[in-house]
Amino acid sequence: MIRGNIPNPLGVSENDELWSTFMKIVDFHVHVGKGAKKTLLPEELLKLMDRHHIEKSVLCPVEEYISVRNREGNDYLIRLVREYRDRFHGFAVANPWCGREACDELRRALDKGLRGFKINSILQGFMLSDEMTDPLLRICAEYKAPVYAHTGTMGNATPFQLLELARRHPKVHFVMGHTAFSDFWYDVIPVMEQTQNIFVETSHASPDTIEGVVNRFGVDRILFGSDLPESNLPLEIKRLKLLRLDARQEKTVFFSNAERLLEDINDH
Ligand SMILES: [Zn+2]
Repeated sequence: MIRGNIPNPLGVSENDELWSTFMKIVDFHVHVGKGAKKTLLPEELLKLMDRHHIEKSVLCPVEEYISVRNREGNDYLIRLVREYRDRFHGFAVANPWCGREACDELRRALDKGLRGFKINSILQGFMLSDEMTDPLLRICAEYKAPVYAHTGTMGNATPFQLLELARRHPKVHFVMGHTAFSDFWYDVIPVMEQTQNIFVETSHASPDTIEGVVNRFGVDRILFGSDLPESNLPLEIKRLKLLRLDARQEKTVFFSNAERLLEDINDH
């Protein structure tokens, strides 16, 4: 059961030969579970992954589990990554407003096998640059856990706010969700120029924006992500195929960068 906004404006065919030759893909951003508005169940996701050559997906929970029901959301992911060890990685959620409790929950989730930390300052209700996240980000530094931050929304989820976090926590790898689509694409390159520890994730982003990043920095800081069930997997793949990267660059963006980020985390 998939419920959400799944546009396919280009009429992308699932049999398009553009991606039928792919080797392996890691999808760095997928929401899984049954939420108030968004639903993608793991069985359905696995079918989509098989159909589109996705070897592994990096999961985070849906909506209310990101904002308030963090422990339930993390437990759901912990069960999934244990059951499908070779197909899923999970990113923990812990709302910074919960203070000490959030820190305990993040440690618990990372100790139980989740491999990163997801923040969404829109759903969780804070300014992305706020110092209230610092204790959580110090835990990420300790565990070498990458941090995925939703960006691109006016007010409290901008690239320059993410830059403040990246500067305060230089040992943490940050992922700029959706490459700041849609409101802040013009801040992407100025922010990446000022720090080495920010990667971009490609879901929803315009090919122009990603092309600008490739031209300026090469492909080593770009991660393919779909944001299922909010987008359409073949469409997200095709978006990057439009850039006409060579085979080595495609492998880096669709696979190797994700593997490199995820293997850093301390084994527990
Ligand atoms: Zn998302």
